[in-house]
Amino acid sequence: MPVKRPSPGDLEPIETASRDEITALQLQRMQWSVRHAYDNVPHHRQAFDTKGVHPDDLKTLSDLAKFPFMTKTDLRDNYPFGLFAVPRDKVARLHASSGTTGKSIVVGYTLQDIDNWANLVARSIRAAGGRSGDMLHNAYGYGMFTGGLGAHYGAERMGCTVVPMSGGQTERQVQHIVDFQPQIIMVTPSYSLVIAEEFERLGITPDQISLKVGIFGAEPWGEGMRGEIERKLGIDAIDIYGLTEVMGPGVACECIESKDGPVVWEDHFYPEIVNPETGEVVPDGESGELVFTSLTKQAFPVIRYRTRDLTCLLPPTSRAFRRMGKISGRSDDMLIVRGVNVFPTQIEEQILRDQKLSGNYQILLTRDGHLDNVEVRCEVQRELSHTLSPMQIDAISKELQHHIKTNVGISTRVNVMEFDSIPRTQTGKARRVVDERPKQN
Ligand code: ADP
Repeated sequence: MPVKRPSPGDLEPIETASRDEITALQLQRMQWSVRHAYDNVPHHRQAFDTKGVHPDDLKTLSDLAKFPFMTKTDLRDNYPFGLFAVPRDKVARLHASSGTTGKSIVVGYTLQDIDNWANLVARSIRAAGGRSGDMLHNAYGYGMFTGGLGAHYGAERMGCTVVPMSGGQTERQVQHIVDFQPQIIMVTPSYSLVIAEEFERLGITPDQISLKVGIFGAEPWGEGMRGEIERKLGIDAIDIYGLTEVMGPGVACECIESKDGPVVWEDHFYPEIVNPETGEVVPDGESGELVFTSLTKQAFPVIRYRTRDLTCLLPPTSRAFRRMGKISGRSDDMLIVRGVNVFPTQIEEQILRDQKLSGNYQILLTRDGHLDNVEVRCEVQRELSHTLSPMQIDAISKELQHHIKTNVGISTRVNVMEFDSIPRTQTGKARRVVDERPKQN
């Protein structure tokens, strides 16, 4: 699909700076950040001391590899405020991640942190083709989740008219889009499909929808899903990445002119890719676990935070900063099925090869004795619902089963269902995997 909106030319100087300028700024900021963490957070001081490193040892960017990692467990162990590097009364806002397992984790921001965050989300919206004066429909959930308020402040900073819709109430979402005619939407990819289905139900075609750009993140989504969303909403679909621990949305964002992976805003976050087993830093281009060190954060500095997100670092294209490849999944989302490692996005990719199938799917895992069984539930597109013969459905299912076997490497039972059989997300991230296998101790 052609790009409808090239991004405007008014970039910040650092977005087109030379590599030398970027590394000089990164080193100066990293030295500050590492010292700030050491001086103000007992956990970091102790972790540095145990590893025998001191902030003075950071003389070049590659010296960072000598410093200890931070993991989600450190955040849980220091719940709620143990990792804050400023007194509580300097913390202007708290956010928390939903924490699918166990206690949620809490992060804090000073006013300066919130200001930087707004600037980075504004930069992301601009990279996505947004401009001052646009109307932006924000369907990320408001509240403790970073998506809603993160997008909101950035959109205001960008000079947009913000519609602070939050998640859910799909009929009303669509009514507002029809009535207000926004150009931009920010929402999770899975919920954007729910919105697209509501447009279909009302008989509103993509060319009648005012939206031109969608900025999607908070969960993994592949190129097949991009095509599906672009077709159904008649927009350019742009990938934005972020996580609560590091800031929230806007750690990295794709540029509309290249759509080739989120550009990491390297002047604020220093990325590394490490081998998830050994922790060794791997060269750019190689896949592994993404690790971030914050360079400017005051309230909640992170030093070598292991995101568990698997991807690689790619050379700069549309901006002077490096990009990240699409996230194949979190290391803890990886399914091990009869010994084969599988990410839900790999199955998604195979489903979306067939335009008769929609982007809604679910993977059901059960165990039969010692054997894992995988059922892939998917749906035909709305316009095909109740029109296909059992033989046609069978053919779709056999073909998908074959594609999954050949490309992903696992045998599955494919269940092609009528449109709207799989529960929709109402508020945000989709539940792609239902694991009914007994827990192993
Ligand atoms: P929670 O940890 O409760 O899910 P977060 O919003 O902090 O809440 O989730 C951040 C995680 O969401 C990231 O670590 C990553 O796994 C996923 N994520 C965010 N943006 C993207 C994206 N654009 N592509 C793939 N995954 C993403």
